[in-house]
Amino acid sequence: GLAMCMGLAACGGSRSGSASSDSSSKLEDGATIGISMPTKSEERWNKDGNNLKKKLESAGYKVILSFADDKPAQQNSDIENMVNNDAKIVVVASKDGTAVGPAVEKAHDAGAKVIAYDRLIMNTEAVDYYATFQLEQVGVLEANYLIDKLGLKDGATGPFNIELFTGSPDDNNAKYFFKGAWDLLQPYFESGVLVSPSNHGGGVTKDFTVDDWQKISVQSWKAEQAQKDMESILDSTYANGEKLDAVLSPYDGISQGIINAIQSKRPDMVPGSDTWPFITGQDAMEIAVANISKDMQGETVFKNVNDLADAVYDMIIEIAKGEEVTGINGEFNNNKIDVPSKLLDPQNITKDNLSDLVSAGYITQERFDELT
Ligand code: BGC
Repeated sequence: GLAMCMGLAACGGSRSGSASSDSSSKLEDGATIGISMPTKSEERWNKDGNNLKKKLESAGYKVILSFADDKPAQQNSDIENMVNNDAKIVVVASKDGTAVGPAVEKAHDAGAKVIAYDRLIMNTEAVDYYATFQLEQVGVLEANYLIDKLGLKDGATGPFNIELFTGSPDDNNAKYFFKGAWDLLQPYFESGVLVSPSNHGGGVTKDFTVDDWQKISVQSWKAEQAQKDMESILDSTYANGEKLDAVLSPYDGISQGIINAIQSKRPDMVPGSDTWPFITGQDAMEIAVANISKDMQGETVFKNVNDLADAVYDMIIEIAKGEEVTGINGEFNNNKIDVPSKLLDPQNITKDNLSDLVSAGYITQERFDELT
């Protein structure tokens, strides 16, 4: 049985370690599989989509891979196109987890299995499986990095100035990332050791809750918006040399926007010195590898998307053979059903273990050397 229930909403009964699929529905050799990715403009989805495509093609499947340019309507027509081309399984990393519902319902009605990839598809029964990285753990790693660097467990009393950002309001993941972090940081707001002096999002105080997360969100995870928001935070609250101790950022692209803002508004803050804030991130993007090596970003959460592609590949092969899907180790509620889920472990990366990205096969030594 499951050790715990992963959803924020109330969960149903627990499942055993696997979920059954309909054994009458084996796929023919060379069947078509659709992969719908949200955008090409963020590094990881290119890797995600191409990794999975390559593996499926080597196994003899036909693959339709689409990128939706961060447009929900585009993604829905991408998925309809897959269905029209007789896709038997559609794998979807949604741009907007709710808006994509009608498209996957059509796929389901046409007999296809639907796998939510990395991001959950909300408010529909038409999701068979979900594969992602332990979502709250991402925020836990980010918060623990800040807690460690600020010496909060060693009794530092601050108060430390911290500013907080969350991901895109249409991405269910963003709330979980924040929950993982906020559950750890909130007690320090309670005791006054951490304060967020700006009025960002209407003000983050000890009474801020996980459900308030969209107030400090960054639409479509865009660096440009994060930069603007950070610039107005700096203009309003840090224009006279005030110390900024830390920034909770949920994604390397957002971290880059924050860094840009600091460099334009506060040239007196110097990377690698104690004038520079501790800044988190996620995805181990190339830009973050460079930023971490230059002491501009402190941490990133590494999700080895090769492993996620492997996990989804295994699912697809089991579904195709009409076998039971194995390796299910959690479930997420999407406001309609508990979706059987495969959850992988993300990893904390700082300057100290940056080269783990090379040993994990995520980045080549040559590229690493260029970036660092
Ligand atoms: C993914 C993260 C990614 C973010 C922005 C999230 O849904 O889980 O890995 O950083 O989207 O692309």
